[in-house]
Amino acid sequence: MKLQCQVEVINRLYVSHNITSNGKYLKSTLAIGKEPKLGTDYFILHFSSVNKTGMKYQVKCIKQVFVKCMNEGKATIRFEEPPHDLCIKCETIQLKCFMKLLKCCITGEAKNLPISSLSNISVTAKDNEPKKIVIHNRSEFPMQGLPRTLESLYLSGLKLCNFRRDILLLKRLVILDLSNNEIEKIPSEFGRMPCLSELYLSNNQLGAKGQVDWRWLLGPQISKQLKLLDISSNKLLYLPKAIWKLQSLLTLKLDDNKLQKLPATLGRISSLRYLTISNNELGSLPCSLMQCRLEFIDLSSNKFHESSTGPKLQKYTPWEFYINNLVHMAAKLLLKNKVYYAPNIIPWTLVELLDNANMCICGAPVLNDKFYIHKEFELKDYFRAVAFNNNRSSSVNFECYVCSPKCLSYFRNS
Ligand SMILES: [Zn+2]
Repeated sequence: MKLQCQVEVINRLYVSHNITSNGKYLKSTLAIGKEPKLGTDYFILHFSSVNKTGMKYQVKCIKQVFVKCMNEGKATIRFEEPPHDLCIKCETIQLKCFMKLLKCCITGEAKNLPISSLSNISVTAKDNEPKKIVIHNRSEFPMQGLPRTLESLYLSGLKLCNFRRDILLLKRLVILDLSNNEIEKIPSEFGRMPCLSELYLSNNQLGAKGQVDWRWLLGPQISKQLKLLDISSNKLLYLPKAIWKLQSLLTLKLDDNKLQKLPATLGRISSLRYLTISNNELGSLPCSLMQCRLEFIDLSSNKFHESSTGPKLQKYTPWEFYINNLVHMAAKLLLKNKVYYAPNIIPWTLVELLDNANMCICGAPVLNDKFYIHKEFELKDYFRAVAFNNNRSSSVNFECYVCSPKCLSYFRNS
């Protein structure tokens, strides 16, 4: 068994000679094992950041074990030889398990327990490379900087005003929690984080100054990896059209912002399953959303039934809807066949045109940006689970684009 803990080693010999120890708890690993040949002799191995080869203590040399403060996650093991006291600080349940096993070794009840031979215990320096750090207080930031080995980093509630740039160096980071801070801006380089899968930015100040820099969303790495994005409780007035670039996104949380409209491209995120937009100012939804196979959508506390119904169909002539110029027709075909495009192949203006394409209610691409109509649809017909707090019905206005005469007549007749 291995125990990840903090250990201070006190040499009683020094203490008796009035040499005080430096009183430092070091990040450590303790392991119990047995001697490979003599199956009855047990050892405790102590590895720490300053002693990576490990110090071996014989269980039979234990003089005393102090467990009075075990409920606070503290214990001390006193050895006769060498005259060391190992003061341990650790998570309580793990410490109790460790001590229970140690007791079995001392009393000889451990014969039937699966304790690995000493030679098999592979406690390496790796155990001391942290993968997860939770910081509750600004003073807890490691002096030597954030370890590059981190996979999860929790920096919630620290009143951070700026995005810490040392986060950009953590190339193995998978989970980043920056919620409950005062961050206004995410640097564009953040889009190059290669492994980031969950990003928590709720309760920050994004959008507090109006314009938001969304360039990080366009980073090729982040757009492939990100599965969860929580930007609830910020000051967002709008979302960028480029949000659909997050092609692995499963969960998107947008609650408690000031969004009046969602980008018409949102439905192009085909992986999206959980979408929460409660407490915003939405009056309609983009019809592209109907193409998403959402498991859950929360639209409670918005303004769906307050606003006017939007432009009427009669206002437009059919050709304004779906008869386009040659560039638009070509672009439509490109999108329909999912042909790969990038700024190094075609001009940037065309990339922009393709990126910003809207979607017809049938799912086909629509290049026109101007002409749309509002139509009410029943949410429950399209999404598996809906949270909606309007007693009358769960039908809301969708902002619909039309791709063809066929779709137009569908609108006219339904
Ligand atoms: Zn259509």
